Amino acid sequence: MSKEAWSFVTEAHEPIRQLLIPFRGAEITNDQWKELVQNIPGIGAKWKLIQPTDHCSNVRNIASCKLCADTGQALVTRVRRGKPSIFLVR
Ligand SMILES: [Zn+2]
Repeated sequence: MSKEAWSFVTEAHEPIRQLLIPFRGAEITNDQWKELVQNIPGIGAKWKLIQPTDHCSNVRNIASCKLCADTGQALVTRVRRGKPSIFLVR
């Protein structure tokens, strides 16, 4: 992943956080996540760089969000790994 893509992960945090507010407490699949983030103005076109596992309380990727990954501020918790993966919106 390029350095630009890496910082984008963190820049996207706040728009995603706001998008997910109505979904707090709900479980969403990775396909539902994709549909949601594609609709974020300005950054939705980069949806491939916006992965739930980058903003996750129990997943730590090399290039994950500097603001929330692996912390209590994470946007989601992965509750099922596989097809589909399922995430609880925090
Ligand atoms: Zn984040």
